Amino acid sequence: MVNFNDHLAVAVSGGKDSLSLLHILAKMRRFRPKTSLIAITVDEGIKGYRDEALEIAASNCKKLEIAHHVVSFKGLYGFTLDEIIERARSNDETELTACSYCGVLRRKAINIGARQAHANKVATAHTLDDEVQTVLMNIFHGDIMRLAKEKPVTNEVHPLLVRKIKPFCEIPEKESALYAYTKKIKFQDMPCPYASEALRNDIRGMINRMEAKHAGTKFTVFKAIERLRPALEETVRAENFKTCIECGEPSALDLCKTCEMLRHVR
Ligand code: SF4
Ligand code: ZN
Repeated sequence: MVNFNDHLAVAVSGGKDSLSLLHILAKMRRFRPKTSLIAITVDEGIKGYRDEALEIAASNCKKLEIAHHVVSFKGLYGFTLDEIIERARSNDETELTACSYCGVLRRKAINIGARQAHANKVATAHTLDDEVQTVLMNIFHGDIMRLAKEKPVTNEVHPLLVRKIKPFCEIPEKESALYAYTKKIKFQDMPCPYASEALRNDIRGMINRMEAKHAGTKFTVFKAIERLRPALEETVRAENFKTCIECGEPSALDLCKTCEMLRHVR
């Protein structure tokens, strides 16, 4: 996933997975001296939660001597996530959960942050558990396009989209947590106040119950999709990227998802 001369942006939330990844990639610098790292944290603007994570992310970066770049929803979109949710709910736009807004807006923010940092790849700490949850969510949503394209190393599809890699995609979340604990990495363990609303939570519970009863379930699902993906990629029409008429970022439609969401809350 990592070439010898990559300039990697690491998406660091301040949680155990992203900080374990940052510490492991920092070690890699010893035998990959031409690989450089920068940490990127997205400040969604979640009161009582993100501030602590930002401090923890910053202190880990300082310790590892890695530059830390913060991009905020407020700076990029004009609203914090809290403000977006409050406005959406008062406008009766309550169909979407906070995580639906957050996921779309954060994906774009990470890409913009990685571009600002002149990174040629962005590494995220999605674990095996996250990957399997995403696969099942895409199936439950009937979203075959995303099932095909959300892979451990994304394709180069647009000059403004920084390529994504997921070095932890085969690492169970428990092992990533174990690494953080054994290395005494300081991380945020407080859950996001919006987390309980997410469909992902239900799916996580279901997969964990399956894994407890039938060990190996997570790997089996992950490997099955990896094998199926080439066929899926041939089946779905490749997304034709355009430029969003409002923000100028890459988009599958004339208006990107972020701008469409923000229109409802303005
Ligand atoms: Fe965003 Fe949802 Fe994660 Fe909170 S739990 S940071 S709202 S995606
Ligand atoms: Zn847009």
